[in-house]
Amino acid sequence: MYGQKKIFGVYGSKANNYKDLLLLFTTNLFIHLSILYDIGIIGGGLAGLANAIQMAKAGLKVILFERQQYPFHRVCGEYISMEALPFLQNELEIDPFEHGAIQLSEFRLTSPAGRQLIVPLDLGGFGISRYTLDELLYQKATEKGVTILQNTIIRQTEKQINHWQLTTHQEQTFEAKTVIAAYGKRTQLDQLWKRRFFQQKSPYIGIKYHIKYAYQPLHQIALHNFQQGYCGISRIEDDKYCLCYLTTRENLRKHQNIAQMEKEVLRKNPFLDHIFDHAEWLYDAPKVINEVSFAPKKLIEQDGILMCGDSAGMIAPLAGNGMAMALHSAKILSKCLIDYQKGDIDQKTMHQNYQKEWKKYFANRLQRGRQLQSFFGSTLLSELLVITTKNLPFLAQKLIKQTHGNIF
Ligand SMILES: Cc1cc2nc3c(=O)[nH]c(=O)nc-3n(C[C@H](O)[C@H](O)[C@H](O)COP(=O)(O)OP(=O)(O)OC[C@H]3O[C@@H](n4cnc5c(N)ncnc54)[C@H](O)[C@@H]3O)c2cc1C
Repeated sequence: MYGQKKIFGVYGSKANNYKDLLLLFTTNLFIHLSILYDIGIIGGGLAGLANAIQMAKAGLKVILFERQQYPFHRVCGEYISMEALPFLQNELEIDPFEHGAIQLSEFRLTSPAGRQLIVPLDLGGFGISRYTLDELLYQKATEKGVTILQNTIIRQTEKQINHWQLTTHQEQTFEAKTVIAAYGKRTQLDQLWKRRFFQQKSPYIGIKYHIKYAYQPLHQIALHNFQQGYCGISRIEDDKYCLCYLTTRENLRKHQNIAQMEKEVLRKNPFLDHIFDHAEWLYDAPKVINEVSFAPKKLIEQDGILMCGDSAGMIAPLAGNGMAMALHSAKILSKCLIDYQKGDIDQKTMHQNYQKEWKKYFANRLQRGRQLQSFFGSTLLSELLVITTKNLPFLAQKLIKQTHGNIF
């Protein structure tokens, strides 16, 4: 275990005088009486679990806190870009295709008036439910020795002299040398830390179902536009489809409830109308999330907490790239942290390396995602987009490429 080798230079900090030394010594003693984890991770989605597995594999002592209990459903389109497959298979040791994932190699875009464009996807992706994928990652993390506390919400983080104290909703405290915040798009900690994006209300909500539907080609992902939103549908395991859409709170308010909005708005698109008429709906009620924000965020908070996945920045869902980005950012961060814990680099360099790598891979992609998002939701613009890309199919390929990355 890397953390065990230090005696006075407690976890990278140095004592300048005897008083400091005594303080460091007693703190260190106290920490060892409880458990001091190398890494504490807040949130067990893709970013949190991928970090946990990587770091446990490197011999670090990792604790992860997850608000919910696995397995559980999440609002997500469940299309994962193929760029993430080698990382999943080779480094996280999970092969989604052994668990029913379906390859997706064709893209269909439709406009509210029923125009459509079908293009092959260069890199493509695969479909697997988060219910299955997150459960597989959770099992793997447990197998690698990660301590996972489910049904546990982290309410507070407090910096001590040379470690962090994390407090749960039940007032239990845990100590970790480094903290990763991988808690997704928005949580109470954002408010506590006064993160800027939290002050701005986001207009978007996400709604998801699992359905059975016999008319969607097996390897196709479709994106159906409607007034103030878009709806993705693609195959996942067990002959099921994930149907997930993003729209605005205003749209919902105008039509009073989800059923009414679907009837009066989504079903104006004839492709969606067909789905709503012919699908078998597998949930009792849709899964819903609100406050989906694509605003820029800071990568390091509270003078040292490392943000990863959606908590570091969320790409518009139509890009179909948020999951790959969450996994990729975890790959980058865990590499930086392992180098730091081994003593190869100091904390400042670790922070700089993470920021540099993150910007290199994601800053432009997030920006293009935001631009693309503005095309959707307006009936006129999405009609124009379908008409234009239908005549110039290379443009569609180019737009898709802009929001995707390379294999990592
Ligand atoms: C409508 C919609 C559709 C999408 N469709 C796609 C798609 O098709 N393809 C794609 O690639 N991406 C898609 N995305 C994006 C994708 O879902 C996210 O980018 C991805 O889930 C991010 O992973 P994460 O690990 O950062 O966060 P999450 O997966 O959200 O995980 C965060 C975890 O932290 C936990 N948590 C939160 N707060 C606390 C706390 N205080 N203490 C303990 N635990 C906490 C939560 O319970 C959660 O399990 C979509 C997003 C939306 C909104």
